[in-house]
Amino acid sequence: MNVKFIAGVDIGGTWVRVALCTADLIEKNIKKKITRTLKETKYSISNSICQILSELLSENHINKDQILGIGIATAGPLNMEKGEVFNSSNLGFSVIPLKKPIEKKFPEIPLYFVNDCNGSVLGVHYFEAEDDEKDNLVYITMSTGIGGGVICNGHLLIGKEGNAAEVGHALVEPRSRFVCNCGAHGCWEVFSSGTGVQNRALDALDEGELNAEILMRIVNNDKSKITAKEVFQAAREGDELSKKIVDDCVFYSKVGIGIINNFYDCSSIYFGGAMMKDHKQIIPSLIKQFEKDSIRFTINHPPKIKLTKYKDEIGLRGALALVKYKIDKEKIIS
Ligand SMILES: [Zn+2]
Repeated sequence: MNVKFIAGVDIGGTWVRVALCTADLIEKNIKKKITRTLKETKYSISNSICQILSELLSENHINKDQILGIGIATAGPLNMEKGEVFNSSNLGFSVIPLKKPIEKKFPEIPLYFVNDCNGSVLGVHYFEAEDDEKDNLVYITMSTGIGGGVICNGHLLIGKEGNAAEVGHALVEPRSRFVCNCGAHGCWEVFSSGTGVQNRALDALDEGELNAEILMRIVNNDKSKITAKEVFQAAREGDELSKKIVDDCVFYSKVGIGIINNFYDCSSIYFGGAMMKDHKQIIPSLIKQFEKDSIRFTINHPPKIKLTKYKDEIGLRGALALVKYKIDKEKIIS
């Protein structure tokens, strides 16, 4: 038996996902495991990756030497060359080494790193994009924050360290009083990410100008229970304050898409991330805007707006696709 395999890892703020698949990346051969992202020490994440990967190998009777490569997609910022995450508010340490500790456990297996959204766009590219959109393709995650991955002219945009396309920090309202995690005022994710929606709802409650009876009923009058999920639910039920916050989330997403399309002239933008649980309140308005009146937001021909069908797994699939593209020496990542 000399079947070869590819391993993929997706490191997020809450979950670490690991997958193994035959090197042909046939969907039905993907085996996966998931564990909580541990934040006890800076080595907690690399330790759990090694442990789960070892478990996957032994459960499936696969030897280390059958693995052609391990692709690692991680929440950033990432230093691709060093294989470490730096300054991550999500992951809890100023530097999180990945490459060195994983190499120790799996010597001689090539490791490939990619920032999670750059990985996700590779996942879309390999597993679901149509032929006519593959060369100019964007993936956007709307989750705790907002991130992006861009394929332009058939090449994945990577940047000097691996963090090109940090589109969530596009300044959509630089004179806003609302400050982003990054320190700037009025980034897109200040209005349209999960944290942004939550914080904007809390601000508006403090201001007290809009009626929020429905929202407060949903959280039993406990403001600390408000997250984006409750705001979207309240908006569906007609809550005045929540509708305004959801409208802003959608409006600034249009601004963000406009900026992306002006810069990258993309054929399609796929959306994913936890906020897409409420995609019915987000995506149709975006599609309508760009189909009917795109010129308000972008000078270029508008992109198609889509939803990834792989939900939380698109990053993991991207990590697998990354290894396949490396092995096949595809120009997309050269
Ligand atoms: Zn920012």
